[in-house]
Parts: sequence; C-alpha cells; structure tokens
Amino acid sequence: MRIDYLRVSVTDRCNLRCIYCNPLGNCNFLRRDEILTFEEIHRIVRLFAQCGISRVRLTGGEPLVRKNIIQLVRSLAAIASIEELSLTTNGVLLEEVADELKAVGLNRVNVSVDSLDRESYRLITEFDLLEKVTKGIHKAVEVGLKPVKINTVVLRGINEQDVVALAQLSVEMPVAVRFIEYCPTSKSTEFNRFFVPNNQVRRNIESRFGPLAATVVANAAGPAVYFKVKHSAGCIGFISGKSTFFCERCNRLRLTSDGKVRPCLYSAHHYDVKELIRGGADDETLLDLLKNIITEKHRYTRLNSPVEEFSMRNVGG
Ligand code: SAM
Repeated sequence: MRIDYLRVSVTDRCNLRCIYCNPLGNCNFLRRDEILTFEEIHRIVRLFAQCGISRVRLTGGEPLVRKNIIQLVRSLAAIASIEELSLTTNGVLLEEVADELKAVGLNRVNVSVDSLDRESYRLITEFDLLEKVTKGIHKAVEVGLKPVKINTVVLRGINEQDVVALAQLSVEMPVAVRFIEYCPTSKSTEFNRFFVPNNQVRRNIESRFGPLAATVVANAAGPAVYFKVKHSAGCIGFISGKSTFFCERCNRLRLTSDGKVRPCLYSAHHYDVKELIRGGADDETLLDLLKNIITEKHRYTRLNSPVEEFSMRNVGG
C-alpha cells in the first residue's frame, strides 16, 4: 500500500463538546508550548512530502479555533508536491472563513454534523449552533471547496432517527453525506451501547428512499463506499470501521497536535517527531525517521493493537 496521506491535528481544543468524542472526560488541554508551532508543522509536512505524502488533511480538536489557521493553510498549500490540502471541521466557524480558506489554497472540506434537528444537535454537541453549521456548509459549496463531505456518526438512541434527513441533504445538495460507525475509544463498555452497524443505517435510509445504487466518487481513496439515491444531486457514503476491516488498505498517518506520528488510529505506538525537532535534529535525521515510519506502518493494525483509551480530539479523528 502506498502511504500518501497525512492527517495533521493542529490543536486539541474544540468549541463543541460532543458526548462521544471525549469519553474519558479529560479536559486537560495541552499547554501552548506543547503544541507544534506552524513552522514545525510546515517542516514536518515538507519532509513527509519528500517521502511520498501528497494529500494532507488538517483536523483537531477543531482546526478553525487555532489562531491564524489561514496562515498555516497558505504555507502548506505552497508545498509543491502536496496535491490535495483539505480540512475537517465541525463547521461552526466555517461561514466566516470559507472564502479565505479557498483563496489561500485549501481544496476542500469535510463538515461533521450528526443531526439536522436543532434539539438533537444540541444534545450531542452541548451547543445550540446548528444554524451556523448549515450556513457554513452552504458557504463551502458556494465558494467551491468541493466536494463538500458531511460526516455523521450514528449513535444508538441519540440520532438514529436523523439519518433520513441527512440522506435527504444528499438529494438536494451536491454533497457526499457519509455515515461513520461509532468507534469505541474507551475500555469502559458503557459506550458500546452507542454502536449502530452501518448495514442498519443503510436499511433505514432505503426504507425511505428505496434501494441505493452504487456510485464512484472521484479521488475517493479512503475507506468510504459510496451510493446514490435516484436523481440526487449528491451521494451517500458508509465508513464501517468497526463492522468491516480495512487496515490492509489504510494509506494514512496521523500527526498529533503535540508532535507525535501515529501509524494506526488504534495503536498506542507513536514516534515523537517534536522531541527530535526541538532537540535540534537536521532534515536528514528527520527524513530517516519519517521514511522508517512509512516502512513500518503496516506492522500496526486494529487487530494487533492492544485496546487503548484515547480521545479523538487528541488524535484528530
Ligand atoms: N472538530 C473537527 C470535526 O468536528 O470534524 C475535527 C476533529 S473530530 C475529532 C473528527 C471526526 O471524528 C468527527 O467527524 C467526529 O464525529 C469523529 N469522531 C469523534 N469521536 C469518534 C468516535 N468515537 N467514533 C467515530 N468517529 C468519531
């Protein structure tokens, strides 16, 4: 598998408190000096680009709460061999910056929204901000940050009833609405109750719209499988990380906001790049490490990783 995709968490802070994202209840945010500076992020991405990384996604926490994020996007977009620069956001601040993000070189956005029902959205996120998010989605489409993808985690007893309205969005708008299976990130079995398999989500959607037809989305190299409701403007995707196994097709690395590269979401194994950088390592030494990470990535998969507790906001989802 060619490893060509890097997800960069630019902060562990977020302006929402989604009930499933941080089951450890950990509110100890990293100190400013523990977080990679823009110069450090740029250097790591530039060197990764020399090792074959050609697609980069900024995430978090919430990437749009990081001060001067536009400056980082501009500098990463200027790295010649990065062919695609994208961002995953909760959309709350998107309307205000979508224009600027596009102008400085961002190619596209994924917006996470788990419900289009105001009360259900508030219950999940603890904030009454759905209207701002929907405005952000429309703005992203308008300025051409395409294809805009919507990410929805379906949670038992919380937003199962909202999947039909979300699927309807793909009928009306040129967006890909993707249903992501909840991934338990805590040893506590208490959270397992949230899990809804995607075949059930698909059945719920088909009971309203009829059979979905398989479709292909350009440049979609990830784990999503895509379908369409007849005559829809957009499409529907399913990312079934728990009920299926796609580690052998995983082409991604993750850089955490405190400078660790993780070869696998599920594995505690990491390489501390920040420590090397702040210890004064030259580019050649860093390149050796990054090449080694890419070579060794296949050794870490969901099946051989011990159960670990983590917050998506630290690792970047
Ligand atoms: N704040 C940004 C956002 O909301 O998209 C980026 C960070 S957030 C951690 C990235 C994605 O991870 C979101 O789509 C979120 O729904 C998803 N996520 C968080 N916890 C998850 C879990 N336990 N299982 C599956 N997806 C999860």
